[in-house]
Amino acid sequence: MTATPARITAVDTYDVRFPTSRELDGSDAMNPDPDYSAAYVVLRTDAHDGHEGHGFTFTTGRGNDVQVAAIGALRPHIVGRSVQELCADPGSLSRDLIGDSQLRWLGPEKGVMHMAIGAALNAVWDLAAKREDKPLWQLLAHVDPEWLVSQVDFRYIADALSPEDALRLLREGRTGVAGRETALLEDGYPGYTTSPGWLGYSDDKLTRLAKQAVADGFTQIKLKVGADLDDDIRRLRTARAAVGDGIRIAIDANQRWNVDEAIEWTNALAMFDPYWIEEPTSPDDILGHAAVRRAVAPVKVATGEHVQNRIVFKQLLQAGAIDVLQIDAARVGGVNENLAILLLAAKFGVPVCPHAGGVGLCELVQHLSMFDYLALSGTTENRVIEFVDHLHEHFTAPVIMREGRYRAPLAPGFSATMREESIAAYHYPDGTFWVADRAAQGGTA
Ligand SMILES: [Mg+2]
Repeated sequence: MTATPARITAVDTYDVRFPTSRELDGSDAMNPDPDYSAAYVVLRTDAHDGHEGHGFTFTTGRGNDVQVAAIGALRPHIVGRSVQELCADPGSLSRDLIGDSQLRWLGPEKGVMHMAIGAALNAVWDLAAKREDKPLWQLLAHVDPEWLVSQVDFRYIADALSPEDALRLLREGRTGVAGRETALLEDGYPGYTTSPGWLGYSDDKLTRLAKQAVADGFTQIKLKVGADLDDDIRRLRTARAAVGDGIRIAIDANQRWNVDEAIEWTNALAMFDPYWIEEPTSPDDILGHAAVRRAVAPVKVATGEHVQNRIVFKQLLQAGAIDVLQIDAARVGGVNENLAILLLAAKFGVPVCPHAGGVGLCELVQHLSMFDYLALSGTTENRVIEFVDHLHEHFTAPVIMREGRYRAPLAPGFSATMREESIAAYHYPDGTFWVADRAAQGGTA
């Protein structure tokens, strides 16, 4: 009897929301009260090997149901696929999902539908890495460069990065990989922390958390800015006094400003030596970022957490609009598109300092930076992964920080698996936490 090849049998989706707005965790100039949420997906198979593919995209609360529905709309492309073929070529699913001739109208390659594609593809990569019994960073760093190139969609970016460029970069990136892997396993990858700097925190809390960050080994912290200039001057002075001169302080406006405001506001804060200004204006405004960069140097310009795809990143790089490129593991079309973006950054020589935080974004994106260090850029110089100390306890393999550095995750997969009890408690609106919460507020349980 011939064994039937294993298939994807189900694409299960979950609306998971955490009540973070109550502590002002995550508050910034544009998002005063986020409830950090995951539109979560599990790919189930009939392989009987115990492996599932877990993935998600991050939202800030309301609308997470819309995001979940978008993932569900991809189901017909995924259910019934051969597990072996899917894991051998996630790029084939990427092309099918991006190319869906009806869903494409909702993008193309941007917004809710594209984030849904990212969640699904990240789940495929999680499954592929589990089947290989490797953490994803290691799978990516060990595979043939030719195969990695086959996973990249060069459409619309070939004028800046050709497949030949990508192959050359990945082959050159392999030199010395074994030594870097040893170093990574020993020393981890540098991080920086945003935990002190949320806009809703008092000055005392800012001072305490900034000092704690330095004591914990971080060499960079980040402050949210952009709501009130006098407040920002006071908070930046407070932070600088707390950490001293040797620590980098990045600032983040979360898209609050017009271009001229961004320039004036950043220059008004320059006396405190901010390392970068993040998201000074709309993530779609490439020429605006370029104008800000020219006017605020030597303060660096960083963006990316809301950059919708590789094509906008390409233009930011071509226009000389950014000093620091901030990939997000769950904004674009998954690992495949982030490979394209990492390759673009390497081609242009721009350091990648990923956006993270939210829920689970640290867990995911560490794999991409570690791959980049091992097998593409070959360096951690001027590269740091954002770290926010929230919600890690909900994952089966949470990030491990030591001396301000991310330890290399060793569990097979993409570190995306959320604890079953967390999903049961925070599933919206019928998880045990939300039911009890409504009852406590006098609503209908
Ligand atoms: Mg940010």
